[in-house]
Amino acid sequence: ARRWARAGAVLRDLQERCAAPVERLRQVADAMVAEMRAGLASNDSEGDSGSSVLLKMLVTYVDSLPSGDEKGLFYALDLGGTNFRVLRIQFGGKEQRIVKQESKTFIASEGEGFYLPEGMQRQLGFTFSFPVKQNSVASGTLIKWTKGFAIDEMVGKDVVAELNKAIKRQGVDMEVTVLVNDTVGTLAAGRYVDNDTVAAVILGTGTNAAYIEHMDSIPKWCGPPPESGNMVINMEWGNFRSTHLPLTEFDVALDAESLNPDEQIYEKLISGMYMGEIVRRVLLKMAQDASLFSDNVPLELEVPYILRTYHVLMMHQDTSPDLRTVGNKLKEVFRIEDTCFKTRKLVVDVCEVVASRAARLAAAGIHGILKKLGRDVASPDKQKTVIAVDGGVYKHYTFFAQCMESTLRDLLGEGVASSLVIKLAEDGSGTGAALLSASYSQRL
Ligand code: ADP
Repeated sequence: ARRWARAGAVLRDLQERCAAPVERLRQVADAMVAEMRAGLASNDSEGDSGSSVLLKMLVTYVDSLPSGDEKGLFYALDLGGTNFRVLRIQFGGKEQRIVKQESKTFIASEGEGFYLPEGMQRQLGFTFSFPVKQNSVASGTLIKWTKGFAIDEMVGKDVVAELNKAIKRQGVDMEVTVLVNDTVGTLAAGRYVDNDTVAAVILGTGTNAAYIEHMDSIPKWCGPPPESGNMVINMEWGNFRSTHLPLTEFDVALDAESLNPDEQIYEKLISGMYMGEIVRRVLLKMAQDASLFSDNVPLELEVPYILRTYHVLMMHQDTSPDLRTVGNKLKEVFRIEDTCFKTRKLVVDVCEVVASRAARLAAAGIHGILKKLGRDVASPDKQKTVIAVDGGVYKHYTFFAQCMESTLRDLLGEGVASSLVIKLAEDGSGTGAALLSASYSQRL
């Protein structure tokens, strides 16, 4: 009985410290807007990781998004965090749209729907989901790695030049036309299917967002503004932090022991790379303080990152009456045998607290973008606003997606929420890169 009381106390403490009521989320959204403004104003924001602003608000040099007129054969290469995807698409213009599309492709098998005009070089859109300082739409140097990557000699190098060299070494006749962040690719793909798309959010291994900003609101831009008057901004919002964020001892320890301490605090609260690890740390504390699983602390419970976010969602979304999946996962991941229902239920509760906090904070971030764009209030013409979202966490974690959307409704109110559409842009980052490669190569 003492065991349950102690474990229950850990849970209640966690619930209290992770609480993100609407008032608090409004403060988070306001802080996000303030940091967006700071990043858009500060010129040193694109320097190294030691820069003073939280949000780099990177200028992407994408000043116009796909129109639907794109035509021809284009390739895309997508380097995210988990996956490395290759894609080729034959665009057929306004009427035909995407004529044919293949992922995992080989140049040797062109033909049959994929047609490269004679004398044309193959064009590749490169999606690279790490912060990059760009000087044009087709070049950029890596500012820092995130999501657990650490290949130091790449930092400061032009990723397009490096990729072009690698392509040449392979003897392939292809050139990188555009370099885009996955958020920018997702935004382009979202825009291609719906012209009311104004922002894109990634909730996968990491988290980030991009949106369309007016040039007037980008004080750090030097030189003549582009014709469109707009610019896509890659926020790099994973690095956001604020005193209003509900942080626990578990988050503080996770951060301190991470590869990038003190950085990407928002990302460490809401993305797929970390949610499992937060849950593991809570369960470890329950094992230590309350001997939750057995008299001894199970060894596997002490292994960092052994519990993945997809384990969390499988346990959380276990609908069997005896929480069989929870029992199986505890056995599979931690070698904890024969758990009782009460223990399993406690594990589910921990998953729920961590996932709700993440989803609610993600909603606050989106609310921040809407505020910045003045789309958080009802417009007389009931203008529709679409946000394109992609990433494994949003796609697979149904509870997370639903919680994020209902929180947004609470923040916006029914009136405004009814004109907001959150749209899954599945694998949009690759398609978007190919689309941008098409429109920018036609401009050259
Ligand atoms: P990335 O963000 O690396 O480009 P994804 O968007 O596919 O890749 O996101 C992968 C992340 O999504 C993983 O880190 C994992 O935490 C999370 N995830 C959630 N559910 C699943 C699932 N069923 N399978 C794989 N990953 C999942």
